[in-house]
Order: sequence, then C-alpha cells, then structure tokens
Amino acid sequence: MQIDINKIRSDFPILSTQIYGKQLVYLDNGATTQKPRCVIDRISEVYETVNANIHRGVHHLSQEATDMTENARRIVQKFIHAKHPHEIIFTKGTTESINLAASSYCRRFCKEGDEIILSAMEHHSNIVPWQLQEDIAGIKLKVIPINEKGELILEELEKLISPKTKLIAVTHVSNVLGTINPVEDIIAMAHSHGIPVLLDAAQSVQHIGVDVQKLDVDFLVFSGHKIYGPTGTGILYGKENLLNELPPYQGGGEMIGQVSFEKTTFNELPFKFEAGTPNYADFIAFGTAIEYISSIGLDAIKTYEDELLHYATSELEKIEGMRIYGTSRHKSSVISFLVKDIHHYDMGMLLDKMGIAVRTGHHCAEPLMHELGIEGTVRASFAFYNTREEIDRLVSGVKRVADMF
Ligand code: PMP
Repeated sequence: MQIDINKIRSDFPILSTQIYGKQLVYLDNGATTQKPRCVIDRISEVYETVNANIHRGVHHLSQEATDMTENARRIVQKFIHAKHPHEIIFTKGTTESINLAASSYCRRFCKEGDEIILSAMEHHSNIVPWQLQEDIAGIKLKVIPINEKGELILEELEKLISPKTKLIAVTHVSNVLGTINPVEDIIAMAHSHGIPVLLDAAQSVQHIGVDVQKLDVDFLVFSGHKIYGPTGTGILYGKENLLNELPPYQGGGEMIGQVSFEKTTFNELPFKFEAGTPNYADFIAFGTAIEYISSIGLDAIKTYEDELLHYATSELEKIEGMRIYGTSRHKSSVISFLVKDIHHYDMGMLLDKMGIAVRTGHHCAEPLMHELGIEGTVRASFAFYNTREEIDRLVSGVKRVADMF
C-alpha cells in the first residue's frame, strides 16, 4: 500500500496552521505527534454520548463506556501481538509504565547488590526510575556503551551480565540518534542467562511496529501521544506470568479484591495495576489512533519515512560544517545535528521564525550528551505526514542560519 500524502495531511487539522505567517513545518514528532481528526472527534464523542465511570456501574452508559475501553485494550493487544488482553496495562505514558515496572519488579525480585543493565542512549525515563530503586532496593546500575556510529556494543553487554543481573532495560529506538537497536539479539542473549528484558518502545511502535510474542520480550512500554493518540495515555505490556508475580504499584479503587482494615486482597490482571478512575475517554481515542495508523499500514509508513530520512540526510550532509549524530545503518526517521559552532538553541529559534518546528537541547538524554561530548543537538524527527517539500524548507532554513553565523 502507498501513502496518499494529500489525503493523510487533510486528516490532521493542525498541519494547515500558519506560524509567523508561514505554513507550519512540524518536525518535532519525536516529542509528540499530531492528532488526526478521527482521534480528536472520538474524544468529544465519548463525552457527548457515553460518558460514565467504567467498571463500576450497572447502568447502560457505564457498561457501554466499559465495553469501549476494553475494546481499546484489545486493539492495543492486537497491535503489539500480545497473547492476552489482560497483559495490556493502561498507564499515563511511557514514564509511568517504567516507574510501575521498576518499582514493582524491584520489590518482588531484587535485593541489595543486584544489578539492572541499561544503555548509554536511554531517555531519562528509563534511567531515573531505576536510580530511585538504587536508594529503595539497593540495586546497582550498569551501562552498555555505544560506538562512534551510536550503536550499542553487544560484546560489552555480554561482559556486563553477571549472576547478579536481574533485568536488562533498553530502548528499542533512540530518541536522539534514531538507532534501531538489535533487540532480538539482546533478548536472546539475556534469555540465555535467564534474565528478562524490558523494551522502551516509545520511539519504535509508531515507526516499525513490534510483535511482543515474536520478540519474546518480557515487558514493553510506550506512550499514546507519540503514536497519534491523546496525551495522558500509555501502555505497559508484560508477560502474564511475570505480571501475576508483581505486587501492585498504586493502591485505590478498582485494583482491589476485598478491603478491610485487617487485610486487603488485590484484583486480577490488568486491574491490579490500574488504581483509580482510568483516563478512559483518552484510552478509547488511543484505540482509534491505532486503528487509524493500522488502516494506513506500518509497512507503508516505514517505507515512506525511510525515504524521508534518506532524502533529509543526504541534503543536510551537503551543508558545510554539518555534523550528524547517529549514523547507524539501522535508523528510524530522526536526525540530530549541529552546524559549525552554532548553538542548538539559536538554530532552533531561528528555524522557528521560519515556521519550522524542531527540538533543541539534551532531549532528556543527558548521559548520552556527556558521552558525545556535547550539550545538546538540533533534532528533526519525521512522521508519515511530512513531505520532501518540508525537508527542502528545513534544509534551506538551516543553510540560511549557517550563512548568518
Ligand atoms: N523513552 C523514550 C525513548 C522517549 O523518547 C520518551 C519521550 N521523549 C520517553 C521515554 C518518555 O515518554 P513520555 O514522556 O511520554 O512518558
């Protein structure tokens, strides 16, 4: 299937916005993606037609809202090829999913001196929740290094694994370098030592898709707002047997079996991990977002985004003084760069004046910036609604800024 770019662009109302009198060029998709009209409409529709608190009511609206939420869970299950719907836990985003996993996993499985392995290219969301557990559970963190192309060095991972290793938590795709990590190899290596793996799929599900059963991954996390869905939605996938072993993360309504002041029992999966009234209106619209991109097809999306990436890379490389960070052959549609000694904020602000939205700074990956010996980069990240013409505008904008300095 091919991308019908005009049709797709007309599905996203915000793309016709003018910024400083110029047509918006939105290249900050790694931070959040724009929403198609069907997702925006779905949120209003829920509030206008079925709104009622889910799971608790015998009345019609409550049951309908519950059915729609559980249908959204099945859409996510199908999308990532999970075996059971109850392996899909709704959270408010990748960050909350990792905090949940880190807290419950370490409480259940880790003791003083145990080790968790991360990588040098992790987002702060996959570092700090584990650091909190260094204080609480006494665990230690070890870090897989990267090479000059921005790829993980797997021989070093082999050396880091020890009898104390309790989990390997790595990103599937780097939000800075774009590197698609060889997660099949990492999971095979980890499992050969009996170690589970958590994948941060915040930057992969929307570009390359995942099949949790084929990967045999133990935990997988991602955010709805980066995959064309609403903010405040996310997923923690976990294998049923592992999730059943973990203690709850938060206490409150819906996660309980029975409560008394003497003893409380907990609900079954997935509700054990969904304390309080869930963000059901947005979860329902999250399901709509997944249906939307599935109707376009992830293969078509990947082919189209790969073309954009190659075109943008080859055009940007022609600019004098251009340095691109992340040059792996296995890359998703993200380009981090610096030009001459122009500060990334200056570049970002001047591009903004031309209507071009890019991200600047450390991208919540300060340890990676230290590794690269820089403070930050300019990052252009592409989605399937971007075009070659928009890349031409980016390239000529960057050239104009470069000429000014
Ligand atoms: N991990 C990665 C790789 C990310 O790119 C991001 C968002 N930039 C996160 C985690 C955190 O996601 P969220 O802020 O949606 O929780």
